[in-house]
Amino acid sequence: MNIEKEVARTIAKYGLVKKSDKVVVALSGGKDSTSVIYILKKMGYDVHGLLIDLKLGKWSEIHNEKMMAFCSELDVPLTIVDLKKELGQGICFIKAVLKKQKNLTGCTVCGIIKRWILNKHAKKLGADKLVTGHNLDDEAQNVLMNFLKGNVLLGVNSSPATGGKAVKGFAQRVKPLFFVPESEIMKYAKAKKFDILYDKCPCAFGTYRVETREWMAGISYDEKKKIVENFQKLVPKLRKENVREMKICKGCGEPSRSDVCNFCKIVSCV
Ligand code: AMP
Repeated sequence: MNIEKEVARTIAKYGLVKKSDKVVVALSGGKDSTSVIYILKKMGYDVHGLLIDLKLGKWSEIHNEKMMAFCSELDVPLTIVDLKKELGQGICFIKAVLKKQKNLTGCTVCGIIKRWILNKHAKKLGADKLVTGHNLDDEAQNVLMNFLKGNVLLGVNSSPATGGKAVKGFAQRVKPLFFVPESEIMKYAKAKKFDILYDKCPCAFGTYRVETREWMAGISYDEKKKIVENFQKLVPKLRKENVREMKICKGCGEPSRSDVCNFCKIVSCV
C-alpha cells in the first residue's frame, strides 16, 4: 500500500484538513503519529506537534528527546505538556488511585485524560484541526470491543472526522490513518528510518484492548477493512437516532454530552 496516497485520499474524501488550517498533531512518539506528521508536513500543511509527557520515567524521557530531535529536523514546532504540572501527578499514580477508588482499569483512564488535555492545549495553540495517529487496526478493535461490551453506540462518533462535524469548544479530531493498517505504518516508519521507540506503551498490559488486539492479530487486512467500512455505513443512522445536545461541564467548563464530563468524573478523586 502507498500510505501517502491513502492519506491524501482520506483527507480529500472526508474533507479532513485544508491548506489554510492550523493543524495540531497529537504526538505520542510512536510510529503512527510520527508518520502522520511527517506525511502532512510533506504535503505542505501547517503542522504543529503536541506531546503529553505522561511522566512514565525513562520511557517518557526517551520519547520526549526523540520527538524534540524529530520535530527540529522536520522544522515543525513542538509543544510538550507536562502531566505533573497539569494534574499534579504522573499517569501511573493517577491510574493506581483510580483503580483503588473507582475500580477503573486499562487504557480507558489514559484515553479520557489524554483527550481532555489534548483538546485544551490544541485550542490554546489556535488549532483548526487536531490530528491523531489512530489507524485501521485501532478502529477495527473499537468496533469489536464496543460490540462485545453490548454497546455499539459507544462508536457513534467514530469516523475519520470524529463526530462528523465541528462542535463548538472542541478542536475537531481527525484521523488521516483511519484506513491504513498498522503493519503498513510499521513498514513505512522503518523504511523512512524514523529514530523513534517502536515499543508498545509499558502500561498497556493485560487490558481489554491488548486482549482484543492479540485476538485480532490473525484477522486479515481485508477483514479488518470490512469491519471498519461496514460499521461506517451504520454510523449516520446511529447518529440520527441518538442526537445528544452538547452541554457545558459543571466542573471544568469544557463542552460535554452530560452535566459533568468524563474527565471531571474521574479526576475529582485523584
Ligand atoms: P494510543 O491511544 O496510545 O494508541 O494513541 C492514539 C493516538 O493518540 C496517537 O496516535 C497520538 O496521536 C495520540 N496520543 C497518544 N499518546 C499521546 C501523548 N502522550 N501525547 C500526545 N498525543 C498522544
